[in-house]
Amino acid sequence: MEKKGAILILSGPSGCGKSTLLKNVYKQIGDYHFSISTTTREPREGEVDGVDYYFVSREEFEEDIKKGHFLEWAEVHGNYYGTSLKPIISAVNEGKLVIFDIDVQGHTIVRKKLDNIVTSVFITTPSLMDLENRLKSRNTDSDEVIEKRLTNAKTEIKYFRKYDYFIINDDLEEASKSLVAIANIARVKAKLFNDEEIIAKWLAK
Ligand code: ADP
Ligand code: 5GP
Repeated sequence: MEKKGAILILSGPSGCGKSTLLKNVYKQIGDYHFSISTTTREPREGEVDGVDYYFVSREEFEEDIKKGHFLEWAEVHGNYYGTSLKPIISAVNEGKLVIFDIDVQGHTIVRKKLDNIVTSVFITTPSLMDLENRLKSRNTDSDEVIEKRLTNAKTEIKYFRKYDYFIINDDLEEASKSLVAIANIARVKAKLFNDEEIIAKWLAK
């Protein structure tokens, strides 16, 4: 049977380990496409334009909003972040699993627009204190930025039950196993399949 495209949304407080988890499991996830978001925040040391994000000015971002280029966008920690529509449509049409790392606002929008093909997982640390320690030890953000992210995290955690799955990223290997399982299950969601087509084929044999 033709492979169906699907979307897997990962959300969770900045610093909970989403990028680390993805790096740890990407070889175990078949044919996927990571959605590269566009942002107005400054690149962190080591981040590459076109790999981690497309880094743009606020003016460019606002122009793209006007032109309707985004599937979703949101203001997070004082910066714009958004998912461009075109590459997502292409990847889904090619039967890929499209992975998004977006915030809770973006999740709400994508769910509304593409519910049938979305599976989502909320990832967090065991506690707020662990989050603070991880953000500090990552050593990429100023104290002020870390403070903003921690404040935001206290709101974000309240949304975890809106997601299909929930991972506490304590032991990286355990959390990785759960993420691989969720990525596999996202590809066999019943609503991905066209009922008329499936039933007609099934009856014809
Ligand atoms: P996010 O992508 O969610 O913002 P990162 O992947 O950048 O988070 O992780 C934040 C920090 O936490 C990094 O320094 C990373 O090495 C560390 N980290 C990630 N997962 C774990 C874990 N399970 N245990 C301890 N530290 C972790
Ligand atoms: P960071 O600055 O740490 O890379 O990301 C900050 C937050 O923005 C994270 O919660 C991340 O999931 C979210 N984010 C990244 N890209 C997007 C996007 O395209 N749309 C939305 N809505 N959120 C995003």
